Amino acid sequence: MTLLRSGSATDTGLVRSVNQDLAVENPNLFAVADGMGGHAGGEVAARLAVDTLSAAFGRQPTGAGLSEAVVEANSVVWEHSLEHPELRGMGTTLAAVALVNEDDHDLMALVNVGDSRVYRFHDGELSQITTDHSLAEDMVRSGELTSAEAAVHPHRHILTRALGVAADVSVDLWRIQPSRGDRFLLCSDGLSNELEESEIAEVLSSVSDPREAADLLVRAARTHGGSDNITAVVVDVVVGDASDGAT
Ligand code: MG
Repeated sequence: MTLLRSGSATDTGLVRSVNQDLAVENPNLFAVADGMGGHAGGEVAARLAVDTLSAAFGRQPTGAGLSEAVVEANSVVWEHSLEHPELRGMGTTLAAVALVNEDDHDLMALVNVGDSRVYRFHDGELSQITTDHSLAEDMVRSGELTSAEAAVHPHRHILTRALGVAADVSVDLWRIQPSRGDRFLLCSDGLSNELEESEIAEVLSSVSDPREAADLLVRAARTHGGSDNITAVVVDVVVGDASDGAT
């Protein structure tokens, strides 16, 4: 049996006038959406995406179901933008983590579209699980840029994949065995652009309450510049699966 505890925080930041990020904390489903598009488009896209995701995952709470829920969310945002010309061009990132049970095993299913991220803090080590769908990340993979260069590259915000901007979307899915003590961090780029991984790891290793940890991370990103909306969801595995001996 796996039991989770979570906390989240979001902030408009110091430059933007509205917050188009959204955090979701359902008992077994957690998500961050970072909407984009003027005339309230970003807020509409993010809201439609997370509402559709939650409803669709509720009907099919599996890894495949989570992935299909993202595809359904894409269709809903895309069709809404076709029906509302003033919202044309809106879209959103979507990163989500869900606790699912497959073949009698509890698993954490992770999905991602865009450049919102999921990190796992496991045994004192922070690792980024998701891969950004951004031009900068593509250039790192092709060897044109180092990770350090990509972090400050002017094209780092340009997405190669987003939700709701086309009729179809391709979704990346991971399945991870949860262990007691694992912490998952979902965040928008407003957080990952402002904080070094070492700073994120420092907070996750020292602040045990997930709500306080999310809050501290968001405040740190704001202090470091706050050039974008900032959102963090921290999900703690407080009871692990019997198979890892940590119940
Ligand atoms: Mg952003």
